[in-house]
Amino acid sequence: MNRTEILNQIKQLSRCDLLVVGGGATGCGIALDAASRGLSVVLVEQNDFAEGTSGRSSKLVHGGVRYLEMAVKHFDRDQYQLVKEGLHERYYFLRNAPHLCHPLPLISPLYRWSQLPYVWIGLKLYDLLAGQHGLGPSGYADYQRTLEEVPLLQKEGLKGGIRYYDGQFNDSRMALSLALCAASHGALIINHMEAVELLKQGNKISGALLKDRLSGEQFALPAAAVVNATGPFSDQLRQLDDPQVHPLLAVSSGVHLVLDAGYPPPKAGLLLSETEDQRVLFLLPWQGRCLVGTTDQAAELREHPQVVEEDIDYLLRHLSQVLDPAPTRENITAVWCGLRPLVHDPRAHDSARVLRDFVIEESSSGLFTIAGGKWTSYRRMAEKLVDKVVANLNLNAAACLSKDLPVHGAQGWQPGGWQQLVTDFPAIQEVEINPFILGSRRVKSVAVDARLRVTKQ
Ligand SMILES: Cc1cc2nc3c(=O)[nH]c(=O)nc-3n(C[C@H](O)[C@H](O)[C@H](O)COP(=O)(O)OP(=O)(O)OC[C@H]3O[C@@H](n4cnc5c(N)ncnc54)[C@H](O)[C@@H]3O)c2cc1C
Repeated sequence: MNRTEILNQIKQLSRCDLLVVGGGATGCGIALDAASRGLSVVLVEQNDFAEGTSGRSSKLVHGGVRYLEMAVKHFDRDQYQLVKEGLHERYYFLRNAPHLCHPLPLISPLYRWSQLPYVWIGLKLYDLLAGQHGLGPSGYADYQRTLEEVPLLQKEGLKGGIRYYDGQFNDSRMALSLALCAASHGALIINHMEAVELLKQGNKISGALLKDRLSGEQFALPAAAVVNATGPFSDQLRQLDDPQVHPLLAVSSGVHLVLDAGYPPPKAGLLLSETEDQRVLFLLPWQGRCLVGTTDQAAELREHPQVVEEDIDYLLRHLSQVLDPAPTRENITAVWCGLRPLVHDPRAHDSARVLRDFVIEESSSGLFTIAGGKWTSYRRMAEKLVDKVVANLNLNAAACLSKDLPVHGAQGWQPGGWQQLVTDFPAIQEVEINPFILGSRRVKSVAVDARLRVTKQ
């Protein structure tokens, strides 16, 4: 179905069960969860799918080593639970989307022997929390092995490293796969469609007024439930419901950069845990290049957030402490910025210490807002949200299926399957996969391009 056909179908609906606003990880995950349970679902995204935060992540499927450190340092049970759940979600994520994810070894380099017990014990605890869902055991890598895996590391003073595993995935394509999978379960999914107003009957929400950003046309869509999955924009939709409502989110920006071919991708990702402001930085192999990120600064809400010079300086300053030779601005080929939707804790002055969990709120007029969390936990977030909507509105729906639901593209996929494709469809070799992934638009056009050329054969 093309966009016009989908649009016509949406306009003909007398009502849907769920109108999901937002086509990022959260919204696409919810659309899939709800549609696979038999609910009638419409998802609207004002830009393109994963054009917001979800296409600008570090592309790690992880429990969060840093959050575990905080859990231990502050005896914080919630953080501990968050890491544990994240590690279990990591397993389902990789299992249900093997074509877009893989286990990735990472190394935390050691420049002082005194760091060894702390890092070793921390990462063993990470293994322990993952339990049977672990991706591989962590362990000590000596000087030689560490350099084999990350040849660019500063050699002076290097003792070795601790190696561990997390997952890596293609965030934009994952969001698209979730959306396509939801569509195959009957959801009507449309981009460039903005929810501009919430409709009410009495004081209860009864749907939304939608504006087609391509044509300017507006129309009303009645819905049993409207779900606000707009990430950093959640407070805007909440304010359409109630202009007096207190903000739920603090928004922080994260910048990534990509280094040029002079910095070949390492075999293992590099975790730098001793930054000047107690955050962590990653240097990751990504599409044949090095991806570096990220920063964490309080930011203004914008649809297309801009990279500021200070963030580039910050990343280069830290890279110069661990890479030899140190990269300069001339070595940067791409930069981008994403906004984290962090559930606001008025007591926290430092956004690195805001709890990275999610909240689900139902307003007095019935707007369901889901905000916060991380990509890794999209499935669990969707499950909890749909459970709540179904229970509160007494909808007729099956139990959640998503733990065992391969996403679009996973069926029949095998690790070496691309070789078979190249043999069967020689023209696919002509497809130039540009390693510079500048944003979700690029990823999608590459994917669609490749598919079209194969189909033409
Ligand atoms: C720099 C950075 C790195 C990160 N790295 C990781 C990582 O490695 N691993 C991990 O697990 N998590 C990571 N995260 C967190 C993760 O990316 C986010 O938690 C997740 O992508 C949020 O998804 P979302 O769908 O809630 O928001 P978004 O992706 O922002 O989606 C919300 C969508 O709603 C749309 N929208 C807003 N208003 C309207 C409206 N009125 N009508 C229609 N549509 C609307 C927006 O256009 C947007 O596309 C990272 C985040 C950042 C910023």
